[in-house]
Amino acid sequence: MIKDNLIHIREKIEAALDKRNDEFQKNNFKLVAVTKNHDIAAMREAMEEGILAVGENRVQEALQKSALLARDTKWHLLGHLQTNKVKQAVKLFDLIQSVDSEKLAVEIDRAAAELNKIQDILLQVNLAKEESKFGIYREELPEFIQFVAGLSNVRICGLMTIMPHDENTENLRPLFREMHGLFVELKTMNLKNSNVKWLSMGMTNDYEIAIQEGANLVRIGTGIFGQRQY
Ligand SMILES: *Cc1c(COP(=O)(O)O)cnc(C)c1O
Repeated sequence: MIKDNLIHIREKIEAALDKRNDEFQKNNFKLVAVTKNHDIAAMREAMEEGILAVGENRVQEALQKSALLARDTKWHLLGHLQTNKVKQAVKLFDLIQSVDSEKLAVEIDRAAAELNKIQDILLQVNLAKEESKFGIYREELPEFIQFVAGLSNVRICGLMTIMPHDENTENLRPLFREMHGLFVELKTMNLKNSNVKWLSMGMTNDYEIAIQEGANLVRIGTGIFGQRQY
């Protein structure tokens, strides 16, 4: 089941990559399996099929799982991070995708310094300004980028966004395109403390269009594991 799902998704990904035909994107592409609310058995199955990176929304859940999984698994934090969980998060996660405020960036920087780590991060953008979502608004992004680039124990590795829900994903294409524009701008800024490499957008519902518009990191849960049981 997971095996078949992954075969299907990888075919779709290849087709979308071919359609865009961008060498950078093809050579730097990552599929992150979103494993929140899925158990260790399912995670192991995905790893046997070549999944190297997993995404979780909650620090506690990720910590519990990480004790049970192979050490070379890469952990990505996707959900909003509360400041009281920062220390644990910095210990565990290879990439914190959900940096959404100056205060949080400062806390991550401080915790990383204590642990002698440079923490890789993505800046989360709330492009559609949805009240229900976290992330920086487009207009605030330049100032936010400069602020975070001034912190010495975090490394800006790109941008992340969660698109509004839309049954007709074609409607989202202009937003994905705009995100790619912001990503290209960020890449050309030549910031200190940065290695701008990832544009994280696209989930089960909309990853094909996201890739067609330049995403090189997609986060897929339902498409791999089926519906989550809450
Ligand atoms: C849950 C989640 C996903 C995966 O969503 P699916 O629709 O199950 O693929 C991706 N990104 C974030 C930030 C999430 O919270």
